[in-house]
Amino acid sequence: NKMVYAVKALGNIRVFCRCRPLSKGEVSAGYATVVDFSAAKDGELGLLASGSTKKIFKFDRVYTPKDGQVEVFADASPMVISVLDGYNVCIFAYGQTGSGKTFTMEGTEQNRGVNYRTLEQLFRTVEERKETSTYNIFVSVLEVYNEQIRDLLATSPTSKKLEIRQTSEGAHHVPGITEAKVENIKEVWEVLQAGSNARAVGSNNVNEHSSRSHCMLGIVVKAKNLINGECTKSKLWLVDLAGSERLAKTEAQGERLKEAQNINRSLSALGDVISSLATKSGHIPYRNSKLTHLLQDSLGGDSKTLMFLQISPSEQDVGETLSSLNFATRVR
Ligand code: ADP
Ligand code: MG
Repeated sequence: NKMVYAVKALGNIRVFCRCRPLSKGEVSAGYATVVDFSAAKDGELGLLASGSTKKIFKFDRVYTPKDGQVEVFADASPMVISVLDGYNVCIFAYGQTGSGKTFTMEGTEQNRGVNYRTLEQLFRTVEERKETSTYNIFVSVLEVYNEQIRDLLATSPTSKKLEIRQTSEGAHHVPGITEAKVENIKEVWEVLQAGSNARAVGSNNVNEHSSRSHCMLGIVVKAKNLINGECTKSKLWLVDLAGSERLAKTEAQGERLKEAQNINRSLSALGDVISSLATKSGHIPYRNSKLTHLLQDSLGGDSKTLMFLQISPSEQDVGETLSSLNFATRVR
């Protein structure tokens, strides 16, 4: 008894599924693995859901818990480089809290993730192309929490609300947001650290706060082709999304309820935008959340989108895993 669901995306949307290893705690508690990787090489992942049904999901890539940061970035890197060729790009990690979103995007100091590797790759390619092009790279780090934008690189706190505006050329931006010019990878590391430190300020539980907010690294590239004089400006967004888990009914009161509704709203808005893009339906509902509104230039058109669908292998998480896999089938 086997059901096959295709999550191989069309057009400029790719979906890579990454499963983390069982944690030490899960191993010692005796939790079983419910994910089958026997056809991972073909982009297939099996989920042993309840009963005897094995559900098969097909992706552009499937990473097993053994695949490391280097393998994962190798597949993302062509897309990253295309920002230097004038494309807008968006890479985001989706999944329940604890599924490895931050590990994939930020990584750890010993095991750096997509964010750092992306900037490292950009500087490497800029160096290779220095005879024919010049590039200026600017970085912003922001957080979207309860439908409000916070500038994580701001040196002094401002009371002014940050809003999304459209330029006369149609590009979306946030007036007043800090854009740090970075010249080398050492400066990048400092900026990323500053952003991550600012994230902790003002919240008494950093992990909880980060599971309920979207953390966004924006990279703006201004390029000049030295041969034909052509200038381009393009944008790359790297996003660690809020946790996709559904809230227990008993917890859904007051502030927590409002947070949960805002998270649901932005994640379902993201799903709606991606599925309207994939089915090429006329109206794309970007304005339904701050998240999709911010990402608008990098979702759709000729921009390139990559979703890391993060899952847990543990039997205890099977419900959330199934709901994440179902979310991904919507981008078909
Ligand atoms: P999330 O950001 O989705 O809440 P985390 O990235 O914090 O999840 O991951 C939860 C835990 O699992 C962390 O301790 C992290 O280091 C570990 N982890 C996640 N993915 C991997 C992986 N691919 N390999 C090794 N450890 C991982
Ligand atoms: Mg996280």
